[in-house]
Amino acid sequence: MKGRESSIKFLLFTWLPVSITSKAGQAVYNSPIMPILDSHTLEFFSRSPEQTRRIGMRLGGGIKVGDVICLQGDLGAGKTTFTQGLAQGWGSQDSVSSPTFMIVNVYRRENGGQLFHLDAYRLESVPEAEELDLDSMLEEGALIIEWPERLGNLIPKDRLLVQLDHVTEEHRQMRFHARGKRYDDLLDGVRQSLFGA
Ligand code: ADP
Ligand code: MG
Repeated sequence: MKGRESSIKFLLFTWLPVSITSKAGQAVYNSPIMPILDSHTLEFFSRSPEQTRRIGMRLGGGIKVGDVICLQGDLGAGKTTFTQGLAQGWGSQDSVSSPTFMIVNVYRRENGGQLFHLDAYRLESVPEAEELDLDSMLEEGALIIEWPERLGNLIPKDRLLVQLDHVTEEHRQMRFHARGKRYDDLLDGVRQSLFGA
């Protein structure tokens, strides 16, 4: 186990530097080591839109029908940019744009399946949100949600939450929080593809 851990750290050394943060969220020290806060959480920094897309691609490669990915962050935090990578990794043939006016975009890929991209920013009320019928979408595909907080308890309890925060113009802090076994597994897949861990 010890040997495995040190080879993981070696692999990480070749990856991007990240900051370890305390539970309170304050930066404790900078380190190239992937911070494993707990098995349900993954956190690191993106230094460019391209890097955010690449990280999205790693996640997109693992998503399946019924998955819920919530993207939380201010305007311009990178939710749509992340979704572009996610859709690419999933295999979308369609290009990703912000569904702010349409509320939901649907992407397709060659070997079937659908990816629903929902932006709840402009939803006015819970009844309007209920009309979206998330359950039917989840029977047919995976669901990416920007501004999930606007949907309240319509969001399934188990989900992967990705929080994006501005650090500087080009830097974003990205925090992944899994709730439920399916999302622990999904996060493990991201860890493995990013860090070989
Ligand atoms: P949101 O959907 O959260 O409102 P967008 O993805 O539409 O945000 O926009 C993010 C903006 O920030 C884009 O113009 C993008 O080029 C820019 N940006 C700069 N650095 C990053 C980064 N590291 N990750 C993501 N976007 C970034
Ligand atoms: Mg957006």
